[in-house]
Amino acid sequence: MNVPFLDLKAINARHAAELKAAAVRVIDSGWYVLGEEVKAFEAEFAAWVGSPHCVGTSDGLSALILALRGWKELGLLKDGDAVAVPANTYIASILAITENRLRPVLVEPDEDTFNLGVAKLAAALTPDVKAVLAVHLYGQLADMPAIANLCRERGLLLLEDAAQAHGAHIGGVKAGAWGDAAAFSFYPGKNLGALGDAGALTCKDAKLAEMVRALRNYGSHEKYKNLVQGPNDRLDEIQAAFLRVKLKYIDDDNSRRREIARRYRQEIKNTAVKLPGVRASEDSHVWHLFVVRVSNRDAFQKKLAEQGIQTAIHYPVAPHHQQAYAKELGHLKLPLTEALHREVVSLPVSPVMTDAEVDYVVAQINSR
Ligand SMILES: *Cc1c(COP(=O)(O)O)cnc(C)c1O
Repeated sequence: MNVPFLDLKAINARHAAELKAAAVRVIDSGWYVLGEEVKAFEAEFAAWVGSPHCVGTSDGLSALILALRGWKELGLLKDGDAVAVPANTYIASILAITENRLRPVLVEPDEDTFNLGVAKLAAALTPDVKAVLAVHLYGQLADMPAIANLCRERGLLLLEDAAQAHGAHIGGVKAGAWGDAAAFSFYPGKNLGALGDAGALTCKDAKLAEMVRALRNYGSHEKYKNLVQGPNDRLDEIQAAFLRVKLKYIDDDNSRRREIARRYRQEIKNTAVKLPGVRASEDSHVWHLFVVRVSNRDAFQKKLAEQGIQTAIHYPVAPHHQQAYAKELGHLKLPLTEALHREVVSLPVSPVMTDAEVDYVVAQINSR
């Protein structure tokens, strides 16, 4: 049997008729940038997240960059301020900080959940730290009740990197509704995926929403009038139209991911495979990735590949060991993050994975 890591074609084929109709609607409208589809998607996504404002962007990285940039333009952050961020995140979180001439303070994650925990975060807070970038890595909410409290007590801005966690919630409060602002990615492989690049910011403050709306569009709040100097980071009409289709199915897709993850966690009995922990309720995780730890990763992947099972590594190189950050971060010693980058491996999980495929993956892992 062949089990692909992620079959994007099959994921979108389920909605082919609706996606094609959405594309035709945009083609026939004659309006391709910042029109009714973007406006409608922003309203629908804000309502689904439970956040007062949503601003569509070209991708997730631009949403992260513009959130921090917006706070700078509003005078809440300045060059050189520090932002605490988990050390084992995807590099985009850190790029958003340095792109704004802010300084990343890398915090080791909690070992069981791979996520930022409040104790290590509190210990990392120096007077320079003015904001926290909490990443809901692999689809699990970080400890947001505690982190949001800490930020409130210390007067810190709280930004969520929700690129992997659409729909994860604690007590009904979803990723994107905990922080002062949040960034989402709709890269095709994310739980809510467009058919190309797309992203969005959600936020509580109308002033930040207005500023990011201007920033994504050359800094222009009114045609031919520029408030600030901004990039072109707009969400396309056609991607917004596709996302409006996909948004209708995200809750069902997340349920299927949870079912598969529940089976993996109950049925994988190989003691060489350390299963991921769930910090709060089952609802706090949407399983963008199902990440296990093994000490002999190469052999583990090779054996599964021989049985037709495709796995992946998220991520093979820690951000502080990237060439791009050799000067700024290369001197850091982060033993837990480094161990995770040596040992993590992601098993297939997706809404189109069949029960027979799950059976097969479990059987192959247990037979080692
Ligand atoms: C995907 C991702 C991003 C970047 O989103 P893009 O849309 O690819 O720019 C940022 N942070 C995390 C954690 C991600 O997984």
